[in-house]
This record gives sequence, structure tokens and C-alpha cells, in this order.
Amino acid sequence: MSPVLAGLYIDGKWRSGDEQLPVINPSTEERLAIVTGGDARAVDDAVHAARAAFGGWSQTTGAARAMILRRIAEGVAARRERLIELQSSNNGKPGFEAAIDVDDVIATFNYYADLAEASDGQQDRAVQLPVEDFTARLRREPCGVVGLIVPWNFPMVTTAWKLAPALAAGCCVLLKPSEVTPLAELELAQIIAASGVPAGVFNVVCGTGVSVGASLSAHPGIAKVSFTGSNAVGVQVMQRAAETVKGVSLELGGKSSLLVMADADLDLAVDLASGGGYFNAGQMCSATSRVLVAQEILEPFLERLVAKARSIKVAGPGNEDAEMGPLVNQAQYRRVVAHIEAGKDSGARLLCGGVRPADQPRGYFLTPAIFTNVPLDSALWREEIFGPVLCVRGFSSQAEAIALANDTQFGLVASVVSRDLDAAERIANALEAGMVWINAPQVIFPQASWGGYKQSSLGRELGPWGLQAFQEIKHVVRAV
Ligand code: NAD
Repeated sequence: MSPVLAGLYIDGKWRSGDEQLPVINPSTEERLAIVTGGDARAVDDAVHAARAAFGGWSQTTGAARAMILRRIAEGVAARRERLIELQSSNNGKPGFEAAIDVDDVIATFNYYADLAEASDGQQDRAVQLPVEDFTARLRREPCGVVGLIVPWNFPMVTTAWKLAPALAAGCCVLLKPSEVTPLAELELAQIIAASGVPAGVFNVVCGTGVSVGASLSAHPGIAKVSFTGSNAVGVQVMQRAAETVKGVSLELGGKSSLLVMADADLDLAVDLASGGGYFNAGQMCSATSRVLVAQEILEPFLERLVAKARSIKVAGPGNEDAEMGPLVNQAQYRRVVAHIEAGKDSGARLLCGGVRPADQPRGYFLTPAIFTNVPLDSALWREEIFGPVLCVRGFSSQAEAIALANDTQFGLVASVVSRDLDAAERIANALEAGMVWINAPQVIFPQASWGGYKQSSLGRELGPWGLQAFQEIKHVVRAV
């Protein structure tokens, strides 16, 4: 019998919703728990509680909020092993990947604690005016009650990137986790509940997108929605939010490139291609799923990449040797398999992978796939697959590589591999992407921004930009 967990934390109290949401272990297809989900009424209750708490919370000092954020970071660190286990069982990630997520959450809360503390000294800064008969000061104030909607691929991380800056800014929060992976966030909610945050400041309503996400996006008591998820849903969130002219931040999909220049260290390039394509079983908005390789090294590169892909141990987190886990659920598994089949039909050549591993009869496992000869107008090349599928293509000039990389509706990230660092920096400048890594894996720091160009994002998370996303700007001008 799987446990039934209360999925609503409103005004400092846990309660159950009417909807029963089964939570599945993607490695075994067994049910881990049932989480009860809320509806429009629960959203309304949470918004009322948050609005009531806003008056007090918004007036606290940055130092007081920093203390709570640091306590949350300490609480996460204290429950590190439990959070790793929950993420692995609910999402399928190998333990080492889940550990990276948990450590990122700790770093994010500590970083925004520092920014909250520093904000006290920056409030009411004088603004230089061109005349002497007026003075002006600048205030940054929390924008109000904010709704945070997050996906299943990096559940805790995407939550922390929104929640830590929102609380640091002095906003009250309504969080809606993904109905697919709510377990780690419910544990995080318990940590936050024990951190001393006043009732109503932080609320959680688990539930489906249709019943909770949609009503949250439209609720007139919410000042801003910060959403991470698919483009299709992001557009709906923006449309609903438009009715009450609420602020919207969107972190959406990607179809990013890794550019391997002719002088690249081949082993490094293969490692980065594999990491960029297969980390989290390729279920990454930042997956560098289009690998562009200088024609003169294409053959040896492909040979090594195929060998690498074939060597990856695909297994559940229970297996110590696991290097890549399953896809998150059956729907995602079917979606990715359909993309692979359509890719083959489009004339693309599958070099390896894309099938269920022989030793995994259950679970949503797929072996790492590599395609070449992918038509530029095919879905395989243009759409986000969100699975362990790499498309590799040769290029004959730097200009062609940049043009291919930029020829997409997305613009989240890119990677460049080259021994010529000056050339790599110039290429980075020419790429339409919010984050470019040179000869580096996809390292992410709370201090650097996260977000992309074009249809990948609206706004930026992390860094000071992540905090500003939850602040209003006020100027007070006075006659002398
Ligand atoms: P999704 O869009 O299906 O769901 C995301 C969240 O929105 C979930 O909590 C879901 O319940 C909710 N939702 C669904 N319908 C809704 C509606 N009508 N109104 C409001 N909320 C609704 O995305 P997913 O499948 O959970 O996640 C995968 C997607 O997330 C991919 O496209 C990926 O690229 C994207 N993503 C982007 C980033 C980034 O930083 N850019 C990071 C992680 C994931």
C-alpha cells in the first residue's frame, strides 16, 4: 500500500485535496505514493493566506529574510540523503545526478540569503537628477503574491531558482509542483515549514495543470507568475495572466547546439556531447541535442561518440553503476519513441540506441541514441525531443556552424569545443543563446544568469536578475 500524502500546505497548515494523484517510480513502474491535489478553491485559499501575510513579510528586513533562507539551506543540507533518494525514486535520476540537484538547491538559498542581506544597504539610494530643486530616491519593493509553476525534470532545482529569490525579495509564494514529481518538493516544504517562515508566506498546492496551474495563472490576487515548463503551456499561462496584466517569467524549451571545431580535443568533445545529450536521460531544456562537427573530424568523432553511448550503463538508481536513468513516465517514453520512429521515417540514420535495454524489462528505459543525416526540416532536428537522442551533423566552415546553430526558434544555451580560445570566444558572441560554455560541461552557478533568447525564455533567473524578477521599482521624488 502506497502512502497517501497531503498535497496542500496553506497558511501554515497541511491539508488534503480532493484529487488523488498517483506518483510513479519510473524505474519500476510501481506506485510510490498518492498525493492529494487541490483545485481552484485551494488556489484561492492559498492566495488569500498569502495576501494576508504579505503586509508583515514585505516589511521585514533583508537580514531577517536572509536568516530564514539560510535555515532552509541548512535544513536541505541536513536532509540531503533523503532528498537525493526521493528525487531518484520519483524522477529516476542516478544518485550522483540527484546529489548535484540538492547541492544546487543549497547554493541557491545561500546565494539569495546574501543578496537579501545586502539589499538592506541598497534601499533608498539617492538618484542623481539634473536639477537642484528636487531629490529622488530609489526603492525596490516585493511585487506581491507570486505563483510558481515548475516541471518534473529538475523539480527541486527549478523550484529553488524561483522560491529563494521570491522569498529574498519579500514576496509571498504559492508553489505548484509538477503532479509527476511532487515528492522532493513536499519534503522541501516541510523543511521550509520548520524554518520559521510565518504562516501564509509560503504555500503549496499540488495538483494538475488544468485545475491548479490554470487557475493560479488567472487569479487576480497574484501579481506575477514564474513558470518553467513546455512552450505550449507557457503560452497558455501568458494568455491567462494577460487578463489581469500580471507579470510573467517563462523558462521554456530548447534545441541547443554543441559546436565541435576542427582543432577540438576529441575526447573532451565526446564527453561534452554525451553529457549535454544524456544527462537526466536527455530530459533537459538545455540539452545540446544538435551536435555540429567540423567535417574533417566527423568520422573519428562519430566513432568515439557511438562507442561512448554504447558504454553508458542504463539502469535505475538502485543500481550503483547506473549512469543514465529512465524517462520520467510512460507518456514521455512514448513521445520519445515516436520521435525516434518519425526520425527514421524522415530519412535520418540511427547509428545506435533508441531501444529498450535488454536487461531492463520494466521501467521507462531507452538506450542513448545517435542520429546522422537528419533532414534540416524534420521534427527530429527542429523540435525538442526531451529524451536521450543526439543529432550529429558535419559543417564545412565556422560561418556554417554558427548559422546552423542559430537556425532555430529556441535560444537557450550552446557549447563550443575548440583549442583556439579566441576563436571560441568570437563564436560564443555570435551564438543566439543565453548561456554559452566553452570547453566546459554545463556548469551552472547561482551568480550567473539562466534563460535564453527567442522562444526559450522571457526574463532571466538566477543572479541579481532572478531577484529583480520579483521586485517592483519605485522612485520617490521630493521638492527641496
Ligand atoms: P509542462 O509544461 O507540461 O508542465 C510544467 C508545469 O505546468 C507542471 O507543473 C504542469 O502541471 C503545469 N501545467 C500544465 N498545464 C498547465 C496549464 N494549462 N496552466 C498552468 N500550468 C499548467 O512541462 P513538463 O513536461 O513538466 O516539463 C518539460 C518542459 O519544461 C520541457 O519543455 C522543458 O524544456 C521545460 N523546461 C525548461 C527549463 C528552462 O529553464 N528553460 C527547465 C526545465 C524544464
